[in-house]
Amino acid sequence: MDTTDTKSILETAIRFHGHQCPGLAMGIRVSLVALRELGKPAKDEELVAIVENSSCGVDAIQVLTGCTFGKGNLIFKDYGKYVYTFMNRETRKALRISIKKEAVLSDKHHLDLFAKVKARTADPAEMEEFKRLHIEKSNALLDLPEADLMSIEVINPEPLPMAHIHESICCARCDEPVMETRIRLIDGAPHCIPCFEELMG
Ligand SMILES: [Zn+2]
Ligand SMILES: [Zn+2]
Repeated sequence: MDTTDTKSILETAIRFHGHQCPGLAMGIRVSLVALRELGKPAKDEELVAIVENSSCGVDAIQVLTGCTFGKGNLIFKDYGKYVYTFMNRETRKALRISIKKEAVLSDKHHLDLFAKVKARTADPAEMEEFKRLHIEKSNALLDLPEADLMSIEVINPEPLPMAHIHESICCARCDEPVMETRIRLIDGAPHCIPCFEELMG
């Protein structure tokens, strides 16, 4: 990927995510910093991302940096913060990137429209206005000088285990295979979490 070709990067991210939005723009900007500072997209697990939200921007991070849920090098911490930590396991270099509050907070008009769109009470004109503002804000974030958009801090990497392959054991109730680390025992018999919760709930 040519990280200077912003048009094709945006297209790649939109193709994966489904639409252009402010969150996606933040994810693109964060990804480009991670790639610039820490190296190439992860083929394996050399690059790791820890994301503190699970919204639109994380899709850009997955498709652009190669840190994906399926590979196990995307770690989600449900803190609801616009904070992204990246580390390169080989060089041991790590960055904590936080989006500045001025970039996160939307103006009231945009938020009011967003609320109407979500509640399905927006009329067609408001719908159009919302879409226009959403793309406008997204483009503004793509163009914002880096120092106005984010704080970047070099940190000491926390130790991370490599994703291990675990054996599967069949649940005593539903007989479906379960990763051994997720087994719950009832009277010594292995159960999957849904079965365990149903039986014990
Ligand atoms: Zn989105
Ligand atoms: Zn089960």
